[in-house]
Amino acid sequence: MRERLDAVRARMADRGIDGLLVTGEENVHYLTGVPDCEGWALVGERTLHLVVDGRYIEAARRDLDPALGQVLEWSRPFEEHLGALLARIGVTRLGFEADKVSVALAGRLAAALGGVALVQTNGVVEDLRLVKSEDEIAAIRRAASIADESLRELLPRIRPGASEVDLAMELEWIMRRRGAERAAFAFIVASGPRAALPHGRASGRRLERGDAVTFDIGAVVGGYASDMTRTFLLDPVDATMAQVWEIVARAQREAVAAVRPGVTGRDVDRVARDIIAAAGYGPRFLHGTGHGVGLEIHEGPQVAVKGETVLRPGMVVTVEPGIYIEGLGGVRIEDTVAVRPDGPEVLTRFPIQARLEALES
Ligand code: ZN
Ligand code: ZN
Repeated sequence: MRERLDAVRARMADRGIDGLLVTGEENVHYLTGVPDCEGWALVGERTLHLVVDGRYIEAARRDLDPALGQVLEWSRPFEEHLGALLARIGVTRLGFEADKVSVALAGRLAAALGGVALVQTNGVVEDLRLVKSEDEIAAIRRAASIADESLRELLPRIRPGASEVDLAMELEWIMRRRGAERAAFAFIVASGPRAALPHGRASGRRLERGDAVTFDIGAVVGGYASDMTRTFLLDPVDATMAQVWEIVARAQREAVAAVRPGVTGRDVDRVARDIIAAAGYGPRFLHGTGHGVGLEIHEGPQVAVKGETVLRPGMVVTVEPGIYIEGLGGVRIEDTVAVRPDGPEVLTRFPIQARLEALES
C-alpha cells in the first residue's frame, strides 16, 4: 500500500496537483486496503484520509493500517466537510477522478470548494492497477480455481431439459459455498440459438439435444475477479458448430500463447482475429479478444484492435475469441491469463473440451 501511495503522489506531482480525491470504489479499495466502504480517499502530499459514514466506520478503522493514514467519519454529503480538511492539510489544487464523478457531484464540489482549483484527472490509480502484485495474482488464481471446481461440480446437471437460469443460479450457489465472496458478474448461460448472443444472460430456455451451450462465469476472492468461458456441444453435435468450435479453440490457444511482455493487446487480438478470418468467419467475431481483469471484471489493458498498451509482467488479461452465427448458435472460449516474464500463465484451468463426455472422469 505504501508503494501504491508513493506512486500516486509521483503522478500527482507530474500533474501539478497537491491533492487527489479518489471516489472510484475499486480505487479506494486499492489505495487503502478497505473494501466496499462507499468512502472517499483523499491523498495529500504526505497524508491519506479515508472518509466514510457511520455505517462503515468500524470496518474502516479495522482495515486501514494506521501507519498509512487516518479514518474520518463524516455525515453525508461529504463535500460539505471537504473544504475544511483541504485547508487543514494545505491542498490548493485538487485532482478528482473525472470518469468516476457525476456531473452533479462535480458541480457540488465546485460550489463547496471556493478557494481550491479543481483539476480533472483520468486513470491515475487505474494505470497503477494494470500491473498486479503476486498477492493480487494469487487472489485471481484462487477465484479462478473456485470457478473451475464449481463448473466441474455442475457438469452432471448440464443436460437437455435443464434451464439456463437454473444452471446459472446453481453455479453461483456452488461458488459461494466453495468460498467465493460473490459472482464476478451475472453469469452468461446461453444455449442453442441464444448462444449466438455474445452477452446472452441466462434465460428460462431449457437445453435441447444438439445445442451449443456457452457458460461465461467468474468468482470474486479478496475483491479480485476471475473470468472464464467454455462452450459445450450437446449430442447430436451439429457439424457446423463442431467446425466452428475447433476454429475458436485454435484461435484462443494461439492467442494465449502470444501473451508475453513486449507485445500489445492489439498484437494478441490480431493472432485470434487472423485465424478466425482465414477460416471465413471474420465478420462473425463480434468483439475484442479480451480485457484486463482485477478489482473490476473489465479493466485495462484492452486486448483488442484498439489495445495499444504494451503488456508487462504482472498484467492479467482475458483471451476470449468467439464466433456467433445467428439462428444457429455460437462458440466462445475464454481464459484469464497472467503475463509472466517468459510468457503466459493461464489461471483458469478448466479443460477446454467440446464434449461433456470428455470431461467426465
Ligand atoms: Zn467472461
Ligand atoms: Zn471476459
